[in-house]
Amino acid sequence: ASYLNPIYNFDNFIEGDCNRLARSAGMAVAQKPGITSFNPLLLYGGVGLGKTHLVQAIGNYIKQHDVGRFVLYVSCEKFTNQFIEAVRNNNMQGFMNFYLQVDVLVLDDVQFLSGKEKTQECFFHIFNHLHQAGKQIIMTTDRSPRELVGFEDRLLSRFKWGLSADLQQPDLETRIAIIQKKLQAEGIAMDIDVIEYIAHSIDTNVRELEGVIVSLMAQASLNRREIDLDLAKRTIQNIVQHVDKEVNIEVIQKRVAEHFGVTVDDLKDKSRKKELVVPRQVAIYFAKEYTDFSLKSIGYHFGGRDHSTVIHAIQSVNDMLKTDKDFKAAVQEIQKSFKTRPN
Ligand code: ADP
Ligand code: MG
Repeated sequence: ASYLNPIYNFDNFIEGDCNRLARSAGMAVAQKPGITSFNPLLLYGGVGLGKTHLVQAIGNYIKQHDVGRFVLYVSCEKFTNQFIEAVRNNNMQGFMNFYLQVDVLVLDDVQFLSGKEKTQECFFHIFNHLHQAGKQIIMTTDRSPRELVGFEDRLLSRFKWGLSADLQQPDLETRIAIIQKKLQAEGIAMDIDVIEYIAHSIDTNVRELEGVIVSLMAQASLNRREIDLDLAKRTIQNIVQHVDKEVNIEVIQKRVAEHFGVTVDDLKDKSRKKELVVPRQVAIYFAKEYTDFSLKSIGYHFGGRDHSTVIHAIQSVNDMLKTDKDFKAAVQEIQKSFKTRPN
């Protein structure tokens, strides 16, 4: 068993600025395992950014092009459990022999080995043996090698022998492409404005993006309806509130609108009337304070304004906070209502 999952490949891994180096290094390793200077190849980045997908794609590619090669994918949790099992059964020899035969070793989530001295020592020997024999080692971690703690120096220094490449949060265009790819795989159609709404609203990681699509599909089939903007909004509101009880953009817009006696639609309106401009700027200011949205995404949630308008709004509010006591009191009152009143 190689524990590779054939659903992960390079074709369904969307390339973007966020993952370009990691992906191309991965492709180079897939084409010439053990031969490039990318040995080990270490991919790092936060949860849900595609580390497992990419290393699985490398493994699958190698296996497809050379069936004789022994490619092994293993999570470090599993590796640790196998190690403990071998110690308990007095079967270290069998354990080592198995790993020393591998041609391409993919170790996922290496940070799991932090503080596990005996397991690390065992991995150190496997690493040395394989590397010397020109075998390829591929690893992932949730942070850069510099930030790893609880590792022996000699092992850490080996992590830096080859290439480390990071995976970052996907930008808007990449998120849109990922959603489209996913929909295509599921054979589902969706309007571009719905896709854009989702991409603008979920900018944390790809796993969350996929979660939204899955629950949208479930909602749509349950209620026998199409996935339209309205359904997307309600689904995302539920999910976002679920994941994060903090203030979200819908709550901000609602509270600010209520306070100033305007409607949420007014906040998104193109109108430049003074009585709408200030509430809109306040809501934008809070969106920047409370959400992780980029300036571009904040603009999107306020009727498609560009990022310079968003910057201007935030500056105006900051200026008024300094000079206008009543205004400051109003802003503080709205702020309080986020937490104290039920949404
Ligand atoms: P990690 O291992 O970094 O936590 P995963 O590789 O498990 O993340 O990715 C989470 C989900 O997002 C998977 O279903 C994966 O297929 C998908 N995914 C991540 N990045 C991409 C990408 N660039 N293109 C397509 N799907 C992606
Ligand atoms: Mg993973």
